Amino acid sequence: MPSTFNITILGGGISGLSTAWYLSRSLPKSCKITIIEASNRLGGWIQSRRHGEQGILFEYGPRTLRPGGLGGLAVLELIKSLNLIPSLITIPKTHPAALNRYIYYPDRLNKLPHSLLSLAPSLSRAFIRKAIPGILREPFVKPANTDDESITAFIARRFNSHIADNIMSAVIHGIYAGDANQLSVRSVFPSLYYYEHYYGSVLKGLMRGLKEVEDKKELERELGECVGDLINDMSKISIFSFKDGIQMIVDALERELRKKENVAIKMGEKVVKLEIENEKAKVYTESSVFPSSHIISTLSSHILSRILTPTLPYLSQTPSVTVAVVNLAYSNPSLLPVTGFGYLIPASIPNNIYSALGVVFDSDAVPSQDKVNITKLTVMLGGHYYYGMNSIPNEDELLSHARWVVSNHLGIREEPMLWNVTIQRECISQYQVGHLDRMRELHHSIRNMCGGRLSVAGASYLGVSVNDIVLNSRMLAGRVVEWIERRRKLNVTGLESVEEIPTPII
Ligand SMILES: Cc1cc2nc3c(=O)[nH]c(=O)nc-3n(C[C@H](O)[C@H](O)[C@H](O)COP(=O)(O)OP(=O)(O)OC[C@H]3O[C@@H](n4cnc5c(N)ncnc54)[C@H](O)[C@@H]3O)c2cc1C
Repeated sequence: MPSTFNITILGGGISGLSTAWYLSRSLPKSCKITIIEASNRLGGWIQSRRHGEQGILFEYGPRTLRPGGLGGLAVLELIKSLNLIPSLITIPKTHPAALNRYIYYPDRLNKLPHSLLSLAPSLSRAFIRKAIPGILREPFVKPANTDDESITAFIARRFNSHIADNIMSAVIHGIYAGDANQLSVRSVFPSLYYYEHYYGSVLKGLMRGLKEVEDKKELERELGECVGDLINDMSKISIFSFKDGIQMIVDALERELRKKENVAIKMGEKVVKLEIENEKAKVYTESSVFPSSHIISTLSSHILSRILTPTLPYLSQTPSVTVAVVNLAYSNPSLLPVTGFGYLIPASIPNNIYSALGVVFDSDAVPSQDKVNITKLTVMLGGHYYYGMNSIPNEDELLSHARWVVSNHLGIREEPMLWNVTIQRECISQYQVGHLDRMRELHHSIRNMCGGRLSVAGASYLGVSVNDIVLNSRMLAGRVVEWIERRRKLNVTGLESVEEIPTPII
């Protein structure tokens, strides 16, 4: 190891910032950490902005997080260590926003049951009734002779095509803005894949669960200790955000990182080239060169494939979709016909002329972020529907598309008092069938071809949610620290977990 060790992190989104935070907590001051961000702000897709005289909060990206799972624990530990607990807004599991989620099909809102007990009253509705035989008749057999398949194919094979086309397709619109016919069940819902693989039944798997790999169990214990009593409080919580939105995590990370002597944040510096040759690594921006002992790229894999010499196989094979986010605020607080989190729109509905994916009822979902009582909505449009379109509609057109959606679906015809349209270009990575195999190949090629100088993190690889990203950044930083402490040559790719396989509980 050289006496000083320079780690250059590409990208100042949640992935780059959290990786820098974890590294800076554990590494000695002799290790310099430099974050290079192309734009003049940090946070990437996370952006919360107040609008108008009344300072109405609009989220342009993620708006709520979930406390569950290992990723949820990692985020809780992060926000605790950033002293953000007093700024939390929590939505209990008993709140209408937790209980009431809808699917628009074919021309009305259908409330989804949130538990087995709530299933009975919903049975009178045809939409739910059609799903039941598929669930009850799930075959107890080992999987088809395939290592991966689309989410639609998997769900239709195990349950029925009503669930695949009308429920799962909507869920995928909500998470990936993607096409369930294209996305990989193994990468997007690994537990469903393993439930079938080990138990021959998703339902049986849901009841029995899976044994996590040893590393993750240890991490769970460690995170649990750090989070302490907060775990009990958060076990009653469905979703959470912050008084000033999700951006508060980014702002707190920036504030803390700027206090660290060995961390530098370079903004307005676009990385244009990465050179990894003969075990030497250099990062080139438009105006500077950063010789680096180790590079951690949190850029999308597409961007990395364009700037890395020599490039690596499979980097450019994860496409992403563009989403139009239209925030609307109305002075009348009572416009919504129902209360709840919002609704999703499956690909199967007819006349979805404006490519709508779903609508979030922000004023219900995260109340108390605004000082005034209003109705606030976000309409998401586009995603996979925008693939192959010559041009994406402009902002005025998108606003009128969103207004058409809320008028036709919710009967809201009023003029909004405030609105904002953001076109988030290529913002959500699409893990298509075979993604995990491609990531495994990429892991090996980074190991073999980059001489231990490159690791990757962020939404292109092993999970698009903030929870997954923070968890993966923490694990990557832990591995980097361990290698540096052992004073051995680094060979950490960030993709080690592609080789982890959970096992059944016997
Ligand atoms: C509309 C929307 C809604 C979402 N909702 C949710 C949600 O509710 N819950 C949830 O968990 N997740 C949600 N997500 C997903 C989540 O927000 C993202 O996956 C996550 O923020 C990605 O973080 P990242 O750091 O990996 O990447 P990014 O945020 O993309 O950060 C990468 C950074 O790299 C910078 N950069 C790019 N090129 C260069 C270059 N050449 N040189 C230097 N810097 C460069 C970019 O400016 C950016 O700041 C949503 C995403 C979107 C778009």
